[in-house]
Amino acid sequence: MPRPLTLKTIEIFASVQGEGLRQGEPTIFIRLAGCNLRCGFCDTKRAWRGGRETSVDKIMDEVRRLRNDYPTTWVCLTGGEPLAQNVRPLVKRLHSEGFRVQVETNGTFPPDPQADWHSVSPKPPDYSVHPGFKKKAREVKLVVCRSIGLDDVRTVRAMFPSTVPVILQPRSNSRWSIDKAVRLLEGAGRAGLENIRLSVQLHKVYGLR
Ligand code: SF4
Repeated sequence: MPRPLTLKTIEIFASVQGEGLRQGEPTIFIRLAGCNLRCGFCDTKRAWRGGRETSVDKIMDEVRRLRNDYPTTWVCLTGGEPLAQNVRPLVKRLHSEGFRVQVETNGTFPPDPQADWHSVSPKPPDYSVHPGFKKKAREVKLVVCRSIGLDDVRTVRAMFPSTVPVILQPRSNSRWSIDKAVRLLEGAGRAGLENIRLSVQLHKVYGLR
């Protein structure tokens, strides 16, 4: 008998998408374990390792259960780095049950060909991403960390079509990072960089997960 398809999961929960263009929309999150990077500012370090081997059937049971209490058709695969695991069978199952799938990724693995929405967040020091995201990214999020500068924003802006917004996201909504985001936005404007925006982590403002 073939082994059931499994993924290493940290948690599955319902909340509101607090980041990016989908900000404010009810969403079911599947947090997958493991990440190939080690960002100093990471706010999900607990997802770097470990996780529970969970069959796609079990994940779907939990998603359905949450959906009964929480009306949404959106499921967000997050992490850790969700694309470090083979999410294709899960994306297929989610689609077959009428869900839309967002993937929050650092962009270092190839995009999932079937996912409906890729939120790409390139990371320092080089901010490089897989070339497939040039076509697949719906939005680009940049954490406004201590090291980021206008040259980094310029580099990332040049990696994607100008129709894809580059969203400056203050680190954990902290004051210094918000102030820096404003300075970067102004600098980007003076440098003629298109479609750069400000954001906050809305779920943290509301005290949600
Ligand atoms: S890529 Fe994301 S999950 Fe991985 S270490 Fe960096 S911030 Fe954390």
